[in-house]
Amino acid sequence: MTRSPLFLQARNITRTFGDLVALDDVSVDIPTGKVTGLIGPNGAGKSTLLSILSGFERPSSGQVIYDGEDITRHPGYRRVEIGITRTFQDVEIFPTLTVLENVLLGFQDQLGEKLWRLILTPGEVRRQRQQFIAQALEILKTIGIIDQRPDELAGNLSYGQQKLLALARMLPTDADFFMLDEPGSGLPRPIVAHMGALLRRIATEHGKGIVLVDHNMELVLEYAEHVIVMHHGTVLAQGAPEYVRRHPDVLRVYLSR
Ligand code: ADP
Ligand code: MG
Repeated sequence: MTRSPLFLQARNITRTFGDLVALDDVSVDIPTGKVTGLIGPNGAGKSTLLSILSGFERPSSGQVIYDGEDITRHPGYRRVEIGITRTFQDVEIFPTLTVLENVLLGFQDQLGEKLWRLILTPGEVRRQRQQFIAQALEILKTIGIIDQRPDELAGNLSYGQQKLLALARMLPTDADFFMLDEPGSGLPRPIVAHMGALLRRIATEHGKGIVLVDHNMELVLEYAEHVIVMHHGTVLAQGAPEYVRRHPDVLRVYLSR
């Protein structure tokens, strides 16, 4: 990936819920092409920050900047249009569709743009469909769930494989940023490790910006190239994993728990 990174930025974001200050003057820069880890104890403000970056919540004050443009007032659906998507803790797949169909749905964006052309030339529809199927199979191979028959119903996959399939569905979309809130929760360690390595490849090889929220510090430090540590609504430290790992404030918070 040679293109220069895009940045999604939080500028002096404060978010209060009544008397509670969930985020207190938070500023972060998130680039494409990397996994950015967002860690901190429960209640630190991680999910609230993701919701504000992805447009599901409004800040009480401060700005969200995307590629230099102030998008603080853009609703969630407009952010999806410009390339910011967020996942939630629940698995987001269609259980009654096949594994392959689940991935094919991710191509919808691209199909939308070309629809008028496809309507005019039916021969092209078949070619385009074959091309999407080939790409979808390639994605399933990358993700490591090609062992499952692509025509298996997604609902029949194990919980861990359903979570991997949910990641596979992100790849064909044109989005630049993916915000993942605890994607490894409830999964066995080997699947979590596979997922971490995969996210890193998606970021570096496909040039995506990935925000990985997790309270498992070891996981995040292993797979993220940039780490933001939050505590009580503030940013305690941010930087490379080896810097964050030794930061006195980070050690204090994690060792005192
Ligand atoms: P984390 O994801 O790091 O565990 P959250 O962002 O979910 O933290 O929460 C940060 C703080 O804000 C917590 O004290 C939480 O109780 C509070 N909070 C989050 N969302 C709401 C809400 N919708 N209403 C009231 N308080 C909230
Ligand atoms: Mg949370």
